[in-house]
Amino acid sequence: MSTTEIRSLHEQFVMPTYAPEIALVRGDGCRVWDAEGHEYLDFIAGIAVVSLGHCHPVLVQAIREQAGTLMHVSNLFYNEQQPKLARAISKRALGGKSFFCNSGAEANEGLIKLARRWGHGVGRHEVISFGNSFHGRTLATLTATGQDKVKKGFDPLPPGFRQAEFNDIESVRNLVNGKTAAVLIEAIQCEGGIRIADHEFLRSLRALCDEAGILLMCDEVQCGMGRTGNWFGYEEAGIRPDAIALAKGLGGGFPIGAVSATPELSDVLTLGSHATTFGGTPLACAAGLAVFKVIEEENLLERARFLGARLAQGLAALSDTYEWVVGVRGTGFIVGLELSRDALPLQKILEEKGLLSLATANTVIRLVPPMTVSEQEIDEAVSRIHDACAAFQEVSEESKI
Ligand SMILES: *Cc1c(COP(=O)(O)O)cnc(C)c1O
Repeated sequence: MSTTEIRSLHEQFVMPTYAPEIALVRGDGCRVWDAEGHEYLDFIAGIAVVSLGHCHPVLVQAIREQAGTLMHVSNLFYNEQQPKLARAISKRALGGKSFFCNSGAEANEGLIKLARRWGHGVGRHEVISFGNSFHGRTLATLTATGQDKVKKGFDPLPPGFRQAEFNDIESVRNLVNGKTAAVLIEAIQCEGGIRIADHEFLRSLRALCDEAGILLMCDEVQCGMGRTGNWFGYEEAGIRPDAIALAKGLGGGFPIGAVSATPELSDVLTLGSHATTFGGTPLACAAGLAVFKVIEEENLLERARFLGARLAQGLAALSDTYEWVVGVRGTGFIVGLELSRDALPLQKILEEKGLLSLATANTVIRLVPPMTVSEQEIDEAVSRIHDACAAFQEVSEESKI
């Protein structure tokens, strides 16, 4: 089918919550191809999901093998893959147990439920989140999200949510009271435009939560699973949260989410208190196990550090050349190019030059490539971004005349 045919079918039968322009039909590593055969370097990676690149042979083999053995049994039965994946997460995260679900929103919903259940006996139920944050599109998680655009038209919203200012410890302190159960934060606000939580702020937040006797919960859905060069985004600040939400990169493209907690909180969600039909299928968990294996065998954490820095450095000079480029920020393979103007036109030019990127928070170009991206592909992307900026400059000058 051509892009036009796919679009027409889509418009007829799929609800119009998205408006894509490109139809992708094939992927291999860091590259994808559209229905007309155009090749793109994929620096969106399914929104920081396809961390091993498209169709990584180890992941494909794991899914193939498990699909042909046992795909789904429900949680009424044990399956071998689920506790193995929970063990893999436990070893690298908080040392406790996990609950599996299917998406980031569901994982955060699980965190919120865990906090409420934990605080229930003592009248603590409020969750403090942050301005500019993103936690998902279910009613509870969009209420926790610090962006008005996701809430529009969905009120009444569930009660029990408060919002503090990111990187402002006093704003959190002002909201903590006897009803507070937990603070929910992203170590890096990715949807919010690649805003990094100050390490000092995260440490103060940990201390504040300890002092108040409340939980610190990290939404690691996007910044977790190795993209920062550590397994999790909170690590660099040297803090340990009480519970985390995972999804996006966890399955390398196969949908899976998880709530994972410290040993102290691992039995708060007791028998029958939370459930899911699809969470933790043998198939999803086999994919997750393959992701852990490849990240370790191919030293992808180290690559995220070195090649992420190479990408950021390659873009640093742009702010000297163009007055509308504010600068580059990020950690590892989470890189944002901040502009002083709308970033969408630049995203479109990048597309024409064969690079997929994501305009985020209006003025930021977000780059979250597969963690298997090669040095050469990084350099290719940098050169396309330089070309696109030059073209963008030209277009802006013309439109001024
Ligand atoms: C993407 C994202 C979510 C929501 O995940 P879904 O799988 O789309 O529900 C939540 N939190 C963060 C930080 C995310 O990046």
